[in-house]
Amino acid sequence: MISLKACRQCHFISDQAKCPQCSGETSREWQGYVVLLDTEKSQIATKLGIKTAGRYALRVK
Ligand SMILES: [Zn+2]
Repeated sequence: MISLKACRQCHFISDQAKCPQCSGETSREWQGYVVLLDTEKSQIATKLGIKTAGRYALRVK
């Protein structure tokens, strides 16, 4: 099983050591996630400042 990590800056979930979106630091300690398909209509996306569809962690330590 691949251990997924979440970006500390934009919360984007990936298996990379650095975020593929903003090249921020990623953390293995995160909780919950949302799948955002339509970021323009999503309140969560607006709140987090997300512009790219994908999986995002709700909380990142
Ligand atoms: Zn990021």
